Amino acid sequence: MKSFSLKTNSHSEMINITSRIQNVVYESGIVDGIVQIFIPHTTAAITINEGADPSVVKDIIKELNKIVPLRDSYLHMEGNSAAHIKSTLVGASEMVMIENGSLVLGTWQAIFFCEFDGPRQRKVFVKILEG
Ligand code: ZN
Repeated sequence: MKSFSLKTNSHSEMINITSRIQNVVYESGIVDGIVQIFIPHTTAAITINEGADPSVVKDIIKELNKIVPLRDSYLHMEGNSAAHIKSTLVGASEMVMIENGSLVLGTWQAIFFCEFDGPRQRKVFVKILEG
C-alpha cells in the first residue's frame, strides 16, 4: 500500500488529486489493473466528478451544506456531526481501472478529496492491484 499526505486549507473543499493518484500508478510500474483509493478519516471523503469547471465542486459543497446543515440538534459533542454525515454520504473509497499505465476516467472526470472539517492534515491510502 502507498499513501500520501494532503494539507487542506478551508473548512469545506474538494481538492483534485487525480495527478497525485496517477503519479502513484506510474511509480508502481503497473500498466493494467485497478487502483483503490481509501480515505482513513471520518470527516473527509472521496468522490469522482467534473474537474473541468470549478463551479461544479462549489455547487456540490453548497448543496451538501443544505442537505446536512452545520448546526442542528446533533448528539455528537465534538461539534462536527455535519462533517461525519457528509463523509458517510460521499464515501471513504473509490476504485478506478488502470489501462496502459493510465487511470481510466471520462473526459470530464477527476478524483476529488473532500474535506468537510478542515483545515487539517490528511492522508490518502492507495492500493494497486495488477491484472
Ligand atoms: Zn466528531
